Amino acid sequence: MSDDGPRQFYWRGVRVPFIAPWSGEKQPRVPLVLRPSLLGGEIGYEGEHPRLDRRNGILWVRMPAVRGVGYPRLAKVHALRQRQAMAHMLCQVCGRSTYGREDGTHLFLMADRGGAPISEGETTAMPPIHESCAAEALQHCPHMSDGAVAAWVKDPLPWGVAGVEYNPITLAPIPTARKGQELTFAPYESPRVQWTIAARDVVSLHGCIPVDVKHLVALAV
Ligand SMILES: [Zn+2]
Repeated sequence: MSDDGPRQFYWRGVRVPFIAPWSGEKQPRVPLVLRPSLLGGEIGYEGEHPRLDRRNGILWVRMPAVRGVGYPRLAKVHALRQRQAMAHMLCQVCGRSTYGREDGTHLFLMADRGGAPISEGETTAMPPIHESCAAEALQHCPHMSDGAVAAWVKDPLPWGVAGVEYNPITLAPIPTARKGQELTFAPYESPRVQWTIAARDVVSLHGCIPVDVKHLVALAV
């Protein structure tokens, strides 16, 4: 990554978000195993790499990182770039830092959930975004086509992960209880993280100041 941040990719005239995966970044199938642990057991990979496959003791999906190879899958998220963006507060569209505002806030933008504003303590797997990049996302992002909500957030705090949870006995995936969601959210303190293969870093949002999305849309014109 240079001082200008990561390279920007375009596809059919539209900038490809930093966290979008490419068709060349195919998730390999890895056999799962049950491993002993201090907490009585955990899910693991056959031939697991202790440093590359886990973050803070939690197993993460394996994904190659070769941005720009193949075609972008704009409705999807690359797990490891999402984690990088969340950990360093990088913009989900351009991949550059969202630090540096005078009031120390970061902008968070989410698909509309029935008109409810972003609430105090709400959890999200969507990394922050710049105002100008949000304007672009609102125009082009498939997640935002049915409306969006936004807030300036003072304290985005580490909360947990989102991923696929597995049954400790059968090692079969457990369907998520969250309607319309593919991934289960598990806080760091939950024993369920031992049985989850993480695919997103999740933060909780504190010190939220709602933003009128119309204001962001206006920046695009
Ligand atoms: Zn940006």
